[in-house]
Amino acid sequence: MVSPDKVAEMAERKENKNNKFRAYLKNHADAEKLDAQFLRLHNELFKDYDCSKCRNCCKIYCTEIERSDFEKDASHLGISVEEFVDRYLKLDTYGVSYITKHKPCDFLQKNGECILGDCKPESCMNYPYTNQPERLQSLLSFMEHVAVCPVAYEICERLKREYNFR
Ligand code: SF4
Ligand code: SF4
Repeated sequence: MVSPDKVAEMAERKENKNNKFRAYLKNHADAEKLDAQFLRLHNELFKDYDCSKCRNCCKIYCTEIERSDFEKDASHLGISVEEFVDRYLKLDTYGVSYITKHKPCDFLQKNGECILGDCKPESCMNYPYTNQPERLQSLLSFMEHVAVCPVAYEICERLKREYNFR
């Protein structure tokens, strides 16, 4: 598996080929079969992967925190909702949603764990979405994740082999 600090560089080197592979899948892959392939590879690769040694996703994205989660998250941290929002969040560029203030995410601890624990946002739980349905419609964002997430990168490489794509 590619190391977390090399994945962006490796993906950049393969960008052209990966874009061609995306177009190939778009035109040739069966949606259900592709979902099953993603799910199998996701389970196989994440089973033994220690995300706490990576956390690229926590370092490069600002994560949306739903208003409906404020109370739960603030209580998990033992602070008031006002303090939670003030300390950790800012409005996005549209002034609509609240996102985390800094990169890396302020909830990320030195040991690679998220201080929100089980209260972490669903988008964080699901990233890089490789076990979700409708992969054929999500190939563009998948290729973006390939440049961030070592497991997504490996899934892409294995899929190329499974489709005999050179
Ligand atoms: S989901 Fe991917 S990017 Fe995030 S910590 Fe795990 S391996 Fe790294
Ligand atoms: S909320 Fe937690 S899991 Fe989500 S980006 Fe921040 S540290 Fe990572």
